[in-house]
Amino acid sequence: MADIARMEIGGLICDNTSCDWKDMSIKVEDYAQYIGTGCPKCGECVLTQRDYNVVQTMLKVTGLISRVGRFFGVSVKEEDLVTVEMNTDGKGNITMDNKKPFDYVKNGGKN
Ligand SMILES: [Zn+2]
Repeated sequence: MADIARMEIGGLICDNTSCDWKDMSIKVEDYAQYIGTGCPKCGECVLTQRDYNVVQTMLKVTGLISRVGRFFGVSVKEEDLVTVEMNTDGKGNITMDNKKPFDYVKNGGKN
């Protein structure tokens, strides 16, 4: 059984749509040191203060939801979890892609 909400964040992707730089090894705990840092490939900012704040807020909200779930003894089966891929755009806007997880769930938890 799993918590009703969980957030796994990691990596940074350049917000410049014509640039393909990304480093998925960067940990969320280290994000603060990347605020305002330029992309090594194109120079575009890789993490704005606004995006950083959005991520921190989402981590807090997710933590709160899972604590409330645990308090009331609510949990879900691991295979019933829905995964959402999320990206920020440098302006604090979030895009989400749930196509893969939907297929994952639709296929009964098989890829
Ligand atoms: Zn770039």
